[in-house]
Amino acid sequence: MLPSQGLDKRADPWFGYSWPQEAYYPPAATGMRGSHAGSFEVAHGFRDGRTWTGEDSGERYDMVVVGGGLSGLSAGFFFHESAGPGSRVLILDNHDDFGGHAKRNEFSYGDRTLLLNGGTSNLEATHHYSTVARTLLAAVGLDLERAEAADATSRSFYGSLGLTGSTFFSQEVFGNDRLVTGSAGGFGPSAARRGWREWLAQTPLSEDAQRDIVRLEETGSPLDSWSELSDGERKTRLARMSYATFLLDHARVQPEVLSIYNDRPKGLFCVGIDALPALFAWAMGYPGFQQLGLQPLSRVGPLTHIGGGQHGRERQFSGGPTIELPDGNATLARLLVRAMIPDALPGSTLEDSIMARVDYSRLDREGSTVRVRLNSTVVRVQHRGSPENASEVEVTYVGQDGSARTVRANHVVMACHNDMIPYICPEMSPEQKAALGYGERMPIVYTNVLIRNWTAFANLGIRSVTCPGMYHSNFSLGRAMEIGAYNPPRSPEDPMVLHMTRTPCAPGFPKKEQHRRGRRDLLETTFETFEHNIRDQIGRALSSGGFDPARDIVAITVNRWPHGYAYSYDTLDDSIEWALFEADDRPCVIGRQRFGRISIANSDAAATPHTDAAIDEGYRAVGEQFVVKSRAGVAEADLPE
Ligand SMILES: Cc1cc2nc3c(=O)[nH]c(=O)nc-3n(C[C@H](O)[C@H](O)[C@H](O)COP(=O)(O)OP(=O)(O)OC[C@H]3O[C@@H](n4cnc5c(N)ncnc54)[C@H](O)[C@@H]3O)c2cc1C
Repeated sequence: MLPSQGLDKRADPWFGYSWPQEAYYPPAATGMRGSHAGSFEVAHGFRDGRTWTGEDSGERYDMVVVGGGLSGLSAGFFFHESAGPGSRVLILDNHDDFGGHAKRNEFSYGDRTLLLNGGTSNLEATHHYSTVARTLLAAVGLDLERAEAADATSRSFYGSLGLTGSTFFSQEVFGNDRLVTGSAGGFGPSAARRGWREWLAQTPLSEDAQRDIVRLEETGSPLDSWSELSDGERKTRLARMSYATFLLDHARVQPEVLSIYNDRPKGLFCVGIDALPALFAWAMGYPGFQQLGLQPLSRVGPLTHIGGGQHGRERQFSGGPTIELPDGNATLARLLVRAMIPDALPGSTLEDSIMARVDYSRLDREGSTVRVRLNSTVVRVQHRGSPENASEVEVTYVGQDGSARTVRANHVVMACHNDMIPYICPEMSPEQKAALGYGERMPIVYTNVLIRNWTAFANLGIRSVTCPGMYHSNFSLGRAMEIGAYNPPRSPEDPMVLHMTRTPCAPGFPKKEQHRRGRRDLLETTFETFEHNIRDQIGRALSSGGFDPARDIVAITVNRWPHGYAYSYDTLDDSIEWALFEADDRPCVIGRQRFGRISIANSDAAATPHTDAAIDEGYRAVGEQFVVKSRAGVAEADLPE
């Protein structure tokens, strides 16, 4: 085990730290974050059959939202906006910070503050956002045009310094440690023009494997048994076959070749190519399909949002800009909080929000119309009476001190992970409970590492390192976006936050089983094991650039998300209609049905791991409750203003 010297663990709950009220500032905590110690134990308790009886707190609300992620915050915002400024809203979340996956990591070094996302990374393909989602962004001050302009300059920054990608071939996977700088370019036939042969010649891959890769990239799989099939039949066959099978059995490449492609889908699907439908690989532009001559997807139509592509979005026609703010979509979470509790985050614009500090003591104040209560796990949500006739719902939660309390509300939105709802809401039908439990959230880790400077990257001429088969699949320099008063690292002598991605999975098993095993792995892995692997991996990859992990690593934040991306259907393990069309019998549709005064939101309810889905589902759930409110014949004064 390597020593963890130099790491500041004082503000780290993983190491048993408890926050004094005046110092409460979760974005600055390092160590094991994301699903941090203290956030999940109660939920695992009720999953395992433990029950709590809450003491009535006497608190009464118009709306209680369970889950303070982007869906829950959006639901709170939609309700408060529509029900009027006097409406009382309580948002409960089990973490010590709000935002769900959309978390902010903040590092200090010398007189600098450095930001990076701890989870939800970007507003992806914003032209695909619904009118509701785009209007919500505008309403809370997230001006897409200004954000896009700032993002464009940041994206070109490292390129303007001449820094490129690179690949680290590790001894444990390839028999030799070797960093190969530059890249052979992307996928597809034009890759040949970008020097595949020259690039491959520098790698430790065998000559046979190199030859197969060139063949795959330049000409693709032979037509062979596909020639008699129609376009639809070819696509159906690809839908039911993994990309690994396609490469081995149809493109007939050496098994060694798989190691080059295996990690590519992991950042989007949290599994390797053994569990990636070949159809999705085709839609994403992976190599090998050239000779099949498949008809491109229609510009608009039911297949346009075929799985794959842009992670659920059509690639060919682009979905518009993707915006990466310095702390990712945590900016949206912070703006939503500002819109509901203005004095919790000083300022009034997107730009001035970036460096503004949230005053956590203002989130949950007596007398506030909107309250965000952290460190509170909801264990039971039940109507007071029958779901059809009750006028109130009782919500029981366990707070940080371990005691259970109840609050009452006229309406509830469950914006938490949908597979938890059957444990929390006893009143639903077995069919609905089964549908809610169908998905399996995908485990993923975003590790952020503060380093003293990035001269090793500059010396090597690189900005990112792909690490096939290693503990973290890749790492890269952090974001360079200049916005508001944020001053990102610009000189290699400046401190920098590196971003690393890990997706624990179990190749060879069906996708859901891979996610289950990956989740177990994450919960059982200590911070020390992470730290050891991080130091080892970065140290070996950058050694020729002069990087010394003992000297250069200052702090580590491991954002582990055992319950990461919402489950999305695919054509290998689920019905093709669920994966490719918006079929009514999808479990997410059956599961998200309103029952009485309880509605269901979260990105799970759309079976797509995206911010716009989280917002849209929050909107739908709140809309359902306004129908209930109206039909219940509430007094005129209670109707939306
Ligand atoms: C590492 C990572 C990167 C991502 N990157 C992107 C990206 O770039 N773009 C994109 O569009 N999407 C991305 N996503 C997907 C992301 O999940 C969604 O965009 C969005 O943030 C989901 O919001 P949500 O509110 O639906 O769910 P969540 O963020 O999961 O929020 C639900 C909240 O409810 C809480 N909760 C659960 N049970 C209880 C309970 N019983 N009591 C109280 N609280 C409870 C949860 O702990 C959580 O805080 C990413 C996800 C991850 C994990």
